[in-house]
Amino acid sequence: MTFHPDARPLLQAAFKGGYALPAFNVCSLEMAKGCLEAAEEAERPVILQTYPADIDQASPHVFVQMIRALADEVSVPVALHLDHGRDAAQVIACLRAGYSSVMFDGQDLPFEDTLDMTTHLAEIAHASGASLEVSAESFGLPGSSENVLETTDPGQAARLHAAGADMVACAVGSEHGHDSRIDLDLLGRIAEQVRGPLVLHGGSGIAPGQLARAQVSGVVKVNVGSALYRAVRLGWTDSDRLSTHRAGYADIRARVRAVAAEYFRRLASPVSTP
Ligand SMILES: [Zn+2]
Repeated sequence: MTFHPDARPLLQAAFKGGYALPAFNVCSLEMAKGCLEAAEEAERPVILQTYPADIDQASPHVFVQMIRALADEVSVPVALHLDHGRDAAQVIACLRAGYSSVMFDGQDLPFEDTLDMTTHLAEIAHASGASLEVSAESFGLPGSSENVLETTDPGQAARLHAAGADMVACAVGSEHGHDSRIDLDLLGRIAEQVRGPLVLHGGSGIAPGQLARAQVSGVVKVNVGSALYRAVRLGWTDSDRLSTHRAGYADIRARVRAVAAEYFRRLASPVSTP
């Protein structure tokens, strides 16, 4: 049994050790198995996480049961996280179902409201024995799209951490689904003020050398979603050559496993601060 009902020990170990865990977005048995096979091969702990819209296809309970059962088959630590939790109700539903960790994404809220929600949800998450990630990616006005690419203010990130967030997601240049370069100086300034675990979203497109360096600035979790879903879609478009549905599922699992293995490699070698 390697399922970790509470992700906090894994996150703290990563923070102290100066390394990051990949957090792979999954929505199916094949994706989860592919990522866990890669983790087993790399002998590294792993976080599997689910998007809110994918939870809507089933339920938090279904994902918890599936990941717990799959974790029994591997020897590395496995945690399950809610990615981009849209409101308190969804965060609490996942905690009740047994998620090891949850994210509250308050990017449409004014900062002070996100801060209040952080205090409130940290209490609930910790009472449930789970960790809370809060987004310091963007704090624009409701309905505004202009602030989507705003970078994180180090002082605000520190206040979210002080309010109880176990992890603070930072915007330092990475974009969901796009190749990007991150501002390592800004990340360093955020790390200096927060002095706690940080998270990078859009990990699929971050240059490999930068990912390795981010780990020495307190980044404990790097989200990888787009690269995995790209592999799944390529498997679908290429599936006509396969004779059975089982061969199709096995092919997708292998493609996902290969992508996950690549991100374990990218996160394998933290570099020391110059
Ligand atoms: Zn994200």
